[in-house]
Amino acid sequence: MFSRNVNRRRFIKSVLMTSGAVAFVSKFGIKNARALENVSVVVVGAGIAGLGAANVLRKNGASVTVLEAKDHTGGRLLTDWTMGAPFEVGAGWIHGPSSDNPSKQLADAVNAQYVVTDDENAVFFDIDGYEYDDDEIERIVDAWEGVLEHIDRTYEVNDHRSLLQAIKDYRPAYLQDPGIMWAFSAFTEFSKGGAIEKLSAPLFNWDEAFDGADVVVTSGYDEILKPLKEGLEIKLSHAVTSIDYSADAGVVVTTEQGTVEADYCICTVPLGVLKSKKISFKPELPSDYRESIEKLGFGSVTKLALKFDEPFWDIETQYFGITTEPKGRWNYWLSYRTFSDENILLGLSVGDYALIADRMSDAEMVEDALEVLRTVWEDDVSEPIDVLATHWATDPYTLGAYTFPQPGNRKSDFDDLGEPVADRLLLAGEHTIFDYAGTTHGAYMTGLRAAEYIIEEES
Ligand SMILES: Cc1cc2nc3c(=O)[nH]c(=O)nc-3n(C[C@H](O)[C@H](O)[C@H](O)COP(=O)(O)OP(=O)(O)OC[C@H]3O[C@@H](n4cnc5c(N)ncnc54)[C@H](O)[C@@H]3O)c2cc1C
Repeated sequence: MFSRNVNRRRFIKSVLMTSGAVAFVSKFGIKNARALENVSVVVVGAGIAGLGAANVLRKNGASVTVLEAKDHTGGRLLTDWTMGAPFEVGAGWIHGPSSDNPSKQLADAVNAQYVVTDDENAVFFDIDGYEYDDDEIERIVDAWEGVLEHIDRTYEVNDHRSLLQAIKDYRPAYLQDPGIMWAFSAFTEFSKGGAIEKLSAPLFNWDEAFDGADVVVTSGYDEILKPLKEGLEIKLSHAVTSIDYSADAGVVVTTEQGTVEADYCICTVPLGVLKSKKISFKPELPSDYRESIEKLGFGSVTKLALKFDEPFWDIETQYFGITTEPKGRWNYWLSYRTFSDENILLGLSVGDYALIADRMSDAEMVEDALEVLRTVWEDDVSEPIDVLATHWATDPYTLGAYTFPQPGNRKSDFDDLGEPVADRLLLAGEHTIFDYAGTTHGAYMTGLRAAEYIIEEES
């Protein structure tokens, strides 16, 4: 009932596309080790897109250098174990973990351990701590689904309304209903990474999904990157400042430590970094690329893990929803006790509130979140003994969480970013694939796509 994926379509197309990705990985396995013997590639960014591309190219004999600004790999796929249980700093779930899902395939390859999270194992409270009964929950979910169905039925793909405007036009009373607005925030704003005020009504729900109930990787999500990194030359703490592809052939990539020359460059930095223009392209990117980079939405999602001595909540319940004000403020909580022995509650801020939360200090964030928890558990809420917080919007090498369509965007604003520029510069990353934007599998597929282009060019 409460699956984040309720609003994601499942088309045959997704299967076809993934089969393509899978076939591609096996087609260009190590057996083609000499195919790119004389080809050099510099990959900017060591997230799943960059590592995926670099791995395939290296296995095909290319000389590959990965330049990563941070002092670690993974980008938005990073597991922190300091609390004794995996705190997923970025991606937390494998969405749709069917055997077709490339991230699930990577996870299976490292014998990852999973736990299915159950959106129906949830309890919901209003802002005064009153618990919603089943009838009220059904009414809320029906209303939320009703709007999505209405948009599906009646909106043209080029309609420029936001999701908020669509709700206003269809059922204005919903805007005054805290339960229904909570559903749009906790489900949709979380899933899409953007505020309903900024989401394109016709497009936000048109992406694709694999089958299967979402899972968390209890052995640590970032383990799936290990095989991709094997044998790669990865230069950490190498922030790229410019990519020069102006010569007739080849690229020159500059970092503070010097330059790297190569035949091709695959640039996987997040959309936020592209928007910030912290990397200068010479010549500048073509105008349609620049327009798409400017127009696409890039919001945030804030995660706060609070570890307590003792649980003060029902440890059999997996999710707690709270209809907080303002919208998006710590409105969804995941209890680790349903898959771990640690007394951890993971709080989420989404929509525009995530942009506010990201700018708080950790201490301010904890106070803000505890205030919300006290609306339900009052004085039972103890002081946390350990805290981990994310600040994606202010992370200089990400500047947000994941990409979403804004009013007026087109699917091609995502997909065309993955088209090669001057035959030797390729952009990759979750922002370059409309159907699977904002996911690890989508990002990985774009890395494979970029590698495939180079292999085809050279064969
Ligand atoms: C809070 C949050 C929750 C998420 N939840 C999920 C989820 O549950 N499931 C899911 O499937 N996906 C989820 N995602 C999305 C998923 O994490 C991303 O789509 C995916 O990891 C992006 O991979 P990427 O390779 O495109 O980008 P990144 O992983 O961001 O990699 C880009 C790399 O480029 C580096 N870089 C930036 N600037 C420079 C520079 N100047 N020079 C060199 N390197 C640079 C960055 O440091 C980074 O390592 C979530 C993301 C966030 C932030």
